[in-house]
Amino acid sequence: MTNRVAIIGAGLAGLSCAQTLRRAGVSVEIFEEERYVGGRVATTCLGSDRFDPGTQYLAAQSDDFRHYLTEIAGLGHADTWTPRQWKPGPGKTVREPWIVGTPGMSSIVRPMAEGMRVSLGRRVQSLERREKGWHLWFADETSAGPFEAVAITVPAPAALPLTERIERLSAPMREIRMLPCWALMVRLEQKKISEHDVFTDVSEVVRWVARDNTKPGRDPRGEAIVIHASSAWSLAAEQADPEDVAEELWGEVGEFLNLPPVRPSRMTAFLWRDGIVGKALGETHLYCPETKVGVAGDWCLGSFAEHAFTSGQHLGHAIAGALA
Ligand SMILES: Cc1cc2nc3c(=O)[nH]c(=O)nc-3n(C[C@H](O)[C@H](O)[C@H](O)COP(=O)(O)OP(=O)(O)OC[C@H]3O[C@@H](n4cnc5c(N)ncnc54)[C@H](O)[C@@H]3O)c2cc1C
Repeated sequence: MTNRVAIIGAGLAGLSCAQTLRRAGVSVEIFEEERYVGGRVATTCLGSDRFDPGTQYLAAQSDDFRHYLTEIAGLGHADTWTPRQWKPGPGKTVREPWIVGTPGMSSIVRPMAEGMRVSLGRRVQSLERREKGWHLWFADETSAGPFEAVAITVPAPAALPLTERIERLSAPMREIRMLPCWALMVRLEQKKISEHDVFTDVSEVVRWVARDNTKPGRDPRGEAIVIHASSAWSLAAEQADPEDVAEELWGEVGEFLNLPPVRPSRMTAFLWRDGIVGKALGETHLYCPETKVGVAGDWCLGSFAEHAFTSGQHLGHAIAGALA
């Protein structure tokens, strides 16, 4: 394997791009700014408590994604969750089977990184093209390279500064809109909610409430609750203090669920700054053959994890074809 492709970002798009390239016999190296892989398909451990603050569940439309989910479920990394869902309107309980990672959502993506060369804690700040190929520059002024091609699989706002000089990529990306989402992780020592496991579109402030403790493979004791604020509220509260956000979201949910006054043993709020795709590209990926740089991510196709998976695969095929 002589080709070398740098992949920036180890989310679902980056990992599916890497997998596609590797299957085509192309060697890849992945650079990820965080200390973990998976991006927004995440599991957060706070003390002994475990939460899924980002992606909540997966449902497959395409055969490829269904096949991947079946495969990892077979390996024990995922299972079916059929929560009792509350939705606004004439109150009937909805139940549909979803796929979740076990024991956390990150288990869905971690197998994709196995055997890959992944450099964690490496935030790529700029790209430089030299005679022998592309070099990636990091915050500490070190670099890696040369690479024949580069796949950028980060949210569009983070990809823009890396592609500024490649108009073919940056022009369409300027049209993309990504919205923030505040996530709140709440731990209650005792069970307080009985009739439902998931609540959607609770109010103008709260879009989603899930009892993570009802997912398979989780600690069933007490309540581990994940709350997502609406995009509009998150946008207005983008600069707010996390502790104030936690109080406000928990107050809203407590009132909605008519909970007795109860003080959570833990409340941690986290902002996904480029969390939800507001306006997508409408194409699977972008690739510039002259420079051999391409971009992929959920924002190319929509706002679900499967979109990231599919987009990464398409970019992988485009790069493998160009290097063949
Ligand atoms: C709150 C929330 C709930 C969601 N719920 C669901 C759901 O229930 N079901 C569903 O299907 N989808 C859901 N989604 C959407 C899903 O999480 C995304 O569509 C998917 O994870 C996007 O994957 P990605 O690889 O495109 O991007 P990301 O997961 O964002 O991956 C990009 C990676 O690039 C890294 N990175 C960024 N900049 C740099 C840089 N300069 N250098 C190096 N690395 C960099 C990031 O750290 C990250 O790891 C949810 C999203 C959020 C925020």
